[in-house]
Amino acid sequence: MVYADHAATTAVSDKALAAMLPYLKEQYGNPSGIYRLGRAARQALDQARETVAKAIGAQANEIYFTGGGSEADNWALKGAAELKKEKGRHIITTQIEHHALLNTAHYLEEQGFEVTYLPVDQLGRISLKAVENAIREDTILISVMTANNEIGTIQPIAEIGALAREKGILFHTDAVQAVGHIPVNVEEMQVDFLSLSGHKFGGPKGVGVLYVRKGVRLPALIQGGGQEKGIRGGTENVAGFVGMAAALEEAVSNLAENEAKVAALRERLVDGLLKIPFSALTGDPINRLPGIASFVFECVEGESMVMMLDAKGICASSGSACSSGSLDPSHVLMAIGLLHEVSHGSLRLSLGADNTEEDVDYILEQLPSVIARLREMSPLWEEKQKEVQ
Ligand SMILES: *Cc1c(COP(=O)(O)O)cnc(C)c1O
Repeated sequence: MVYADHAATTAVSDKALAAMLPYLKEQYGNPSGIYRLGRAARQALDQARETVAKAIGAQANEIYFTGGGSEADNWALKGAAELKKEKGRHIITTQIEHHALLNTAHYLEEQGFEVTYLPVDQLGRISLKAVENAIREDTILISVMTANNEIGTIQPIAEIGALAREKGILFHTDAVQAVGHIPVNVEEMQVDFLSLSGHKFGGPKGVGVLYVRKGVRLPALIQGGGQEKGIRGGTENVAGFVGMAAALEEAVSNLAENEAKVAALRERLVDGLLKIPFSALTGDPINRLPGIASFVFECVEGESMVMMLDAKGICASSGSACSSGSLDPSHVLMAIGLLHEVSHGSLRLSLGADNTEEDVDYILEQLPSVIARLREMSPLWEEKQKEVQ
């Protein structure tokens, strides 16, 4: 099997698994317990917090463990809105955020907040000027993702951070696709909140982090025992957080090496696939994540490509007609200005450090014939051929 869907999730790394196992079995203590077994779990949790903090340039007391990236995004937005609602009710974000962010913004609109969704250019970049122009007296929060999960475009976060700080506006970034893949530092980015998720860099699913800058008094997400300084109650997922920290430490220590390796694989893939007629790469060709190669192929249907690739043992995904059964193409492909019919042929291949040149060559061998077969069956393709002649 060739796994080319690392932006969706990754396998737990060997190191992360090995780090987790003791905390599922022998070291099963509750970190709140004051006997030795509990203290051992507490120590592991503290260590995991230190490790995560170090990986993103934060302090351990700014790290809040969560149940994943979606939870971190929800908490940052709803928390900031609650915290600042007396000051104002205007929030700025972008049209290409992950649904965890967008749907939380929609929820806040229902609660009486006003949200500006900034457009992006054809490469998926937002402009600093657009952010600046959108800022109002009553703006309380700006939220811009570090890197996009569908097209891989990286945003100018540090510049937006500097602007937000100058204006005294809280700034959140969803860095779920970035952490563990490109350098991420909360000081350089000048963020107040940052979301990350364990399963996008070799940690387990269902664990994540919300970084909260020291001094920002984020309201509680879950009332309960005193866990996470009393703002996210519930017995901690010790093994999960330990596994996430181990995976992050590993990813960050191999970052430059993996970045170069994965980017080279992506280049090989992109060069090969752009030879297919009526194909295009989406996203920014320069400011992009190393692993995501996102394409559109005219006159084919994304989901059919994914199914046929699956039959060849290749895991990929498409931003077209999503699993919800809706026929609408992804909001990201619409935001970069693709025509409806073109965006239906979207295919995202996302590579990781565990992929090989052989994997890429296998995709290059299989995908052109998959596309050719689908096009043979497509009335649109027939039309297109006539046009060309
Ligand atoms: C995967 C992802 C999320 C959601 O993270 P979960 O841990 O799966 O909840 C949020 N934002 C982005 C950009 C993602 O890629």
